[in-house]
Order: sequence, then C-alpha cells, then structure tokens
Amino acid sequence: MRAQPKASHFIGGVYVEDDAGAAFHSHYPATGEVIAKLHSATPAIVERAMAAAADAQADWAARLPVERGRILQRAAQIMRDRNRDLSELETLDTGKPLQETLVADAASGADALEYFAGFAPTVTGQTIALGRDMAYTLREPLGVCAGIGAWNYPIQIAAWKAAPALAFGNALVFKPSEVTPLSALALAEILHEAGLPAGLFNVVQGAGDVGAALVGDSRVAKVSLTGSVPTGRKVYAQAAEGIRAVTMELGGKSPLIVFEDADLDNAVGAAMLGNFYSSGQICTNGTRVFVARSVLGPFLEKLAARTGRIVMGDPLDEATQMGPLVSAAQAERVMGYIARGIAEGARLVCGGNAPGGWFVEPTVFADVTDDMVIAREEIFGPVMSVLVFDDEDEVIARANATEYGLAAGVFTRDLTRAHRVVGRLQAGTCWINAYNLTPVEMPFGGVKASGVGRENGHAALEHYTRVKSVYLGMGDVDAPY
Ligand code: NDP
Repeated sequence: MRAQPKASHFIGGVYVEDDAGAAFHSHYPATGEVIAKLHSATPAIVERAMAAAADAQADWAARLPVERGRILQRAAQIMRDRNRDLSELETLDTGKPLQETLVADAASGADALEYFAGFAPTVTGQTIALGRDMAYTLREPLGVCAGIGAWNYPIQIAAWKAAPALAFGNALVFKPSEVTPLSALALAEILHEAGLPAGLFNVVQGAGDVGAALVGDSRVAKVSLTGSVPTGRKVYAQAAEGIRAVTMELGGKSPLIVFEDADLDNAVGAAMLGNFYSSGQICTNGTRVFVARSVLGPFLEKLAARTGRIVMGDPLDEATQMGPLVSAAQAERVMGYIARGIAEGARLVCGGNAPGGWFVEPTVFADVTDDMVIAREEIFGPVMSVLVFDDEDEVIARANATEYGLAAGVFTRDLTRAHRVVGRLQAGTCWINAYNLTPVEMPFGGVKASGVGRENGHAALEHYTRVKSVYLGMGDVDAPY
C-alpha cells in the first residue's frame, strides 16, 4: 500500500495503533486503489488522546508566545520544504490534481502556521482606568480543543485549526474525515519534528462516532468543525450540552453575480474556479451564477468554450486540471443531481457525463430557476447553475433567498455598485472581481446555516482565547455592614 502511515493515530508525540478499532481503507480516488489501511479509534484511544492533551496544555500555555511561535515557524518551514511529498500524499488521498495540491493545500497550512506564529506574541490585554481603582484583561487559552475535518482540504483544515489553537496556548485533538485520514498524521509528525511538545497535537481516526466522542468529552473547552450543515447541527447541539465554545465552518450555496458591465473573461474564469477547482468540492463555491440578461449569450459562449478545454485525467500528472470526486458515493450523489437538473428542465450546456471511475465531467446548466433542486441544495461536485436576472434589487433578493450564507461574489466595473451590493448580501465572505481566494490574513466563515465563528485573520483570536477581567481595588473596601 503506497501511502500506509506508521500507525492510525498520533498521540502524545508518537504513532499509536489499536487493532481493536474497526478497520477502514483510504483509496486513491483516480483508480479506487487501496492506499492505506487504518483503524478507527476505540474509546481507549480517545481517552489516551484527551489525557495527553490535558496533561500537556498547562505547560504549553505558560511558555512565552515567541517560543510557541518559533516552533510553529519551524513547522511551517518543514511543510514548505516537503511540499511536494505532502502534495502527492494529498493527491493520493483526495484525488485532487497535483497541479492544485502543490499550491493550495500544504502551502496554505504553512501560511496559517506562519501567520499565527507571528500573531501570538502581539496579543495584549486592556487596562481600564476606574478612578481610584483599575481593571485589566488577560487573554487566556481555552484549554483542550477538539477539531473535526471534512475531506476536501484535509491538511489545510487541520492546519487552520492547529495553528491558532497552538499559537495561543491550547492543545488540540483532531479527527480527520475517515475518507481522507492521511495528511493530518503528516502534519502531526512535522509539528513534533519542529519541537512541539508531546500531547499538544493529537490525531485520532474514525467516523462520526469518534467525532461525537471528542465533542462529548468533559475536558474539551472548544469544538471546531468543518463539515456539512446537517453534521453541524448535531455537533453544535452536542457541544451546547457541555456549554462548549464552537466554530462551525459549514456548507454553502453561494451566489456569484455578473453584472452587464463586468469584464466577462474574468467573470467566466472566476465562475469556473468557483465551480470546478477541486472537482467542485469547495464549500464557498459560487454554484448559483446569476448573469445579467444582456450578457448571458456571450457569457455562456465563453464559458462553454473554456469548460470544454478542461483537462481531466490522472491527478498525479501535473498537466491534469481536474481529477475525480473523492469517493464513489460522492460521484454517485453528484450524478444524481445532474439527472435531477435535466429532469427539472434545466438546459445542459456542457458536461453531464461520468466518464468512468469516480470522475464527473465539468457540467454547466443554463435556464436554471430558483426553485430547482440544483439551485437550492449543495451538490459538492463540478456542477454550475447559471441563472439570469434583470435588475439589482431582484438579484440581491434572489441571492439571499437561501438558508446558507457562506460566501458571495460580484463582478462589475462599477465599484460603487459593487460595495452597495456586497453590503446587502447575506454572506460571511464576499469577493469583488475575484472568487474563492482565502488568504490567512482574511477572516473566513459563514452566516445563517453556513456557520458561526471565524477562522483566520485577527478574528480567530476570539475563537481560541477567552478574556479574563481582573479588578484591582486600590483603597479601602466600602462595605455597608
Ligand atoms: P460531513 O459533515 O459529512 O463530515 C464532517 C466531519 O464531521 C467528518 O470528519 C465526519 O466524520 C464528522 N462527523 C460526522 N458526524 C459527526 C457527529 N455526529 N459528531 C461529530 N463528528 C461528526 O462533511 P464532509 O466530510 O462530507 O465534507 C463536505 C461538507 O463540508 C460540505 O457540506 C462542505 O460545504 C463542508 N465544508 C465547509 C467548509 C467551510 O469552511 N465552511 C470547508 C470545507 C467543507 P466522517 O466523515 O469521517 O464520518
């Protein structure tokens, strides 16, 4: 098996195996080949990981922020040095083309480690003058955090949670998706090689039941989930039982609005990136592309021509632009949506076929209406819906008419309109004349059913620390008794 890790779990700074846990396989999605065999975490493994994290956290929190940052910086450098190996591993586990993983996955994880390494030493509290007395605030870590990841950006998700958690003095127990279990282990190895003390970043494998065991553990102060809305509802409810802090990065059905004055080539390029990158398996994808009626014809023409040139194939070949879906189940689900779109009367402009294995062609539907299932539900595959609109108020109302609120995009040369429209869109992240760029410097997250909390940027501080207020009395106590 060409990507077999040393063991299934990484706990207390070492690889750990427990054959008593149910066995499962990781597959290379391009061929279905089994590339690794792992075991789900048993309750004993979860206990060991939680205990390791709880034991290690206090000493880590007591270290100087620059010391913590130095270790994370070192880990970021190792990630960059090993980018090719990490990218190949991610491609094997996810089926995403190497062309993408070389620039978007481990590299983004390294950015997060660098960013929070530099951020942690700058964190300060407030002093509050109160006449004779005063108060001040301290930023404290939360303690042990639980992280649960989706399968589309495994190492990036792990690093986006690990970097702020560790930089601000927390410990993390992370469960990757059972579909893509491998790269979180590689990240654990790298963090420890960089000098992270044992127990601060632990990886346990398994499905939803293992995730639930983490969320329900009384030692956990905070839960950060990246996943679908249905899972988010369950995890949020379970976390509420324990009054735990949460970050919920959930799904979306985001609008991308192309006004009549947009640079059409750029808008087409953005719509393609926002629907076909990672075979469409991106939470922020602009899957509802609203195009002004007067430019619909040329937009579709350019889109069909460029989509027809997308190179599908072996993801390990750097010339390949699009790989398969992550699993047979996901490919089947996506094909089900395509059939539904056709049945509902949407016009297939291009794609629509499954050329074999877990591959699905990049697919564009036109004449899509708001009530169609393909315009309402998150497909998480390479399926773009193009809808037509006539005026600004109308398109904003339609863009917002969804339970989701993860992201939105606006293409126009009129910047006044761009800001006005963005101001009215119900979305956590908006792009003007760009799409799907998520630099670590920019806060990221959703509104409405797409989630709560923010990852990245200064905003992440709020979600991995808490404020302690300290009142300092400097005179006699004024007691009435
Ligand atoms: P899922 O919601 O199916 O799973 C997410 C994670 O939660 C997996 O590790 C899963 O385990 C775990 N899980 C499932 N049930 C429970 C439970 N009851 N308690 C605790 N953990 C549980 O999402 P997918 O993996 O299918 O990923 C796709 C989804 O993720 C899409 O909806 C996408 O939009 C969203 N996403 C959101 C992002 C964001 O930042 N907003 C970014 C990327 C994806 P397992 O799967 O191993 O059983």
